[in-house]
Amino acid sequence: MPAQCSSCTDKRAVLKRPKTGHSLCKECFFWAFEEEVHQTIVAAELFKSGESVGIAASGGKDSTVLAHVMKLLNERYNYGLELMLISVDEGITGYRDDSLETVKRNQQQYELPLKIVSYEELYGWTMDAIVKQVGLKNNCTFCGVFRRQALDRGAVMLKVDKICTGHNADDVAETVLMNVLRGDIARLRRCTAISTSSEGEGVVPRCKPLKYAYEKEIVLYAYFKKLDYFSTECIYSPNAYRGYARTFLKDLESIRPSTIIDIIHSGENLSVREGVKMPVQGTCSRCGYISSQALCKSCVLLEGLNRGLPKLGIGKHHRLHDKILSQQPLTEKEERKLKSVDF
Ligand code: SF4
Ligand code: ZN
Repeated sequence: MPAQCSSCTDKRAVLKRPKTGHSLCKECFFWAFEEEVHQTIVAAELFKSGESVGIAASGGKDSTVLAHVMKLLNERYNYGLELMLISVDEGITGYRDDSLETVKRNQQQYELPLKIVSYEELYGWTMDAIVKQVGLKNNCTFCGVFRRQALDRGAVMLKVDKICTGHNADDVAETVLMNVLRGDIARLRRCTAISTSSEGEGVVPRCKPLKYAYEKEIVLYAYFKKLDYFSTECIYSPNAYRGYARTFLKDLESIRPSTIIDIIHSGENLSVREGVKMPVQGTCSRCGYISSQALCKSCVLLEGLNRGLPKLGIGKHHRLHDKILSQQPLTEKEERKLKSVDF
């Protein structure tokens, strides 16, 4: 006999929840998933009535589920939020152009305003052009740094109070693991936070309503709800380091299903010993964005691209920042070291 839904005991179960192991019918799963996101939002007081909130939308499953659930909960529980979609166009032919079509359809389906900010407009470079110069090894560093700032710029243009992103539990666990492996204590301390307040001018507070949602459940939710999302991977997606962390976590999860939540829990409860040196936040002397160095990462990467010295922003070249700012020429040796893309 097919299993009955363990919640309503009325209908037939169509899935076993990865998070709890419960057999549920479609409706009970939808309800459980949505309620958990609602509980996350309420418990962490992510929003205040009257706020305008930009949903970072890529057309992928996470942000599509986020937009769908945010709209639904905003109506179901009268959050009183004004929701909008913000998308970043990295300029990746055959990938982002297609996924942005999905976002445009989502905009119609959810009747939300949409703002698209592009790398080309903001930086004068598309990812296609960047990859041509830097190759396929460090491209995600450029893309990640530019995206962070691009989203903030989009949010400032839309005058939203907050940005919410579709980061799920698996993403957060991966990031904890990666920061441990890299010894990046400052990021390790920040990366499990469900929301970050504004750290300075032009930086919009962010939050992650899907922080405790398992990726597997997001996929099931999108599938059973028949949401319109784009599932192709980026054509420039080596991101080897994250890939290893991801595979490692998946392997662990197959032996111990609670791995993801356990790692998040560890990250949340870590405290950093007093006296550990943390970067001091200041502002970039060129663009005014937050930075712990004279120049922000984005400006350094951009300078490297514009000068044909792609290695400038990769690795530690802080002592060159002052030289760049005062427009002093680099020595031949410095140039040579920064030119090669074999890094
Ligand atoms: Fe950008 Fe890398 Fe993500 Fe592609 S995989 S969108 S290049 S960060
Ligand atoms: Zn800058």
